[in-house]
Amino acid sequence: MDNTTELITKLITLSRHYGVNPEFVLAGGGNTSLKDKNVLYVKASGHTLASIDRKGFVAMSQQKLQDIWAKHYPGNQDQREDAVLLDMMEARIDGEAARPSVEVLLHNLLPQKYVVHLHPALVNGLTCAIKGEENAKQLFGERVLWIPLVNPGYVLAKVVKDKLMEFQGEHGAVPESILLQNHGIFIGAETPESIKVKYRSIMSTLQEHLKRKPDFGSFLVSEDRRKIVEKSLSLAADTASCEIYSCNNQELALRLRDSQKFLPVSSAFTPDHIVYSGFRPLWVPDSVFSGDTEAEIRILFDDYRKQNGIEPKTIAVQNTGIFTFSENALVLFLDTVQVAAYTESFGGHLFMADDQINFIRTWEVEKYRAKVSG
Ligand SMILES: [Zn+2]
Repeated sequence: MDNTTELITKLITLSRHYGVNPEFVLAGGGNTSLKDKNVLYVKASGHTLASIDRKGFVAMSQQKLQDIWAKHYPGNQDQREDAVLLDMMEARIDGEAARPSVEVLLHNLLPQKYVVHLHPALVNGLTCAIKGEENAKQLFGERVLWIPLVNPGYVLAKVVKDKLMEFQGEHGAVPESILLQNHGIFIGAETPESIKVKYRSIMSTLQEHLKRKPDFGSFLVSEDRRKIVEKSLSLAADTASCEIYSCNNQELALRLRDSQKFLPVSSAFTPDHIVYSGFRPLWVPDSVFSGDTEAEIRILFDDYRKQNGIEPKTIAVQNTGIFTFSENALVLFLDTVQVAAYTESFGGHLFMADDQINFIRTWEVEKYRAKVSG
C-alpha cells in the first residue's frame, strides 16, 4: 500500500467507528476528512459514515478551496450559495464526480490531518443551551472555540475562518475543538487515535456535568389510540407513505403530558432536526379522542399545512405518543428529546433563531411546492 491509500483506509475506519455509534451519528449526519499532499479527501454528500468506503470521499485541491476566500460573492444569499457551490465543484481533483459536503470549507480551514465533524446529542446539550457558551468556557477553557449561531454554508465557514485567526493570534495555536452553537462539533488531530482521545475527553467531561439523563425506558400506551391516530394520519397526509412510525417512552410520556411540558421539544435545535423531523411538530391535544378523532386530526393537519406550506413530519399526540412518516424523522425527534434533557444541565433549551430556521425552510417549502405541482 502506498502512503495515501493507507491514510485513506485509516480515515474510513475512523469514520465508521463513529458512524455506527448512535451516541455520535444519526441518519446521514456528520462528516470526516483527511489532508494529504495538498489534497483534501472529504465525505461526499449522500453517504453515511457507518458504511462509508473510498467512493464516499471526494478528492479536492486544498489550494483551490483556499482561493475561495479571495473571491467576491453576491450579497443575495441564494445567488451566493450557488456561486460558492460552483467554485467548490471546481475545486475537485480532475475525474471526481461526487458533490462534496457543504461543510468542506470548514474541513479545509483546520490545519490538522484528520478532521471529524459530528452532531452528538450530548455535545448539542451544550451547544443548544442558554448558558452553552458560558459552560463551554468553564468546562474546557482555552481548548475550545465557540462559534455563535449563523446561517449554514459560506457564512458559517467565513465566521469560523475569522474566529480561528483571532484565536490563533491570541493563543499562537489552533483550538483543540470547535463548538458550533445549535449545530455540533469539529475536532482535528494528526492521528485517528488522537481524534478519539479528544472526543472521549469532551464526552466524559460533559457526562460528569449532567444533572439529569433522559429516561428512555418503555412506556405503554393504548393500542386503540395508536391505531386510530395512525389511521387518521394516513388519511390526512398526502405525501406520506403508508408506513407510520410511532414511539413512546418515559421521557416522551413526560413531554406529552401537556403543551407546557412539550415546549422544550417544540421547535428545532439544529439544521439536521429541521431536515429530518421538521421545524415544528404538530401538537394534537387529548380532546380529539372525545369526538370524531379522524375528522379532528384532519382539521389540525390541514391547518398546519395551510400555515406552514408543508405537512408536519412529526406529530405529537398528547398522552399518546410521537408519530412520524419515516424512521429518520422519529430517530431525529428522539434526538431532540435527548438534547432537551441535556440542556437542563447547562441553563435550559435554546432553539435555533426563527430567521435561521426560515433560511433552511425556504428551500424546503420550495421543494415541496415543486413536488406537489410537478
Ligand atoms: Zn454539521
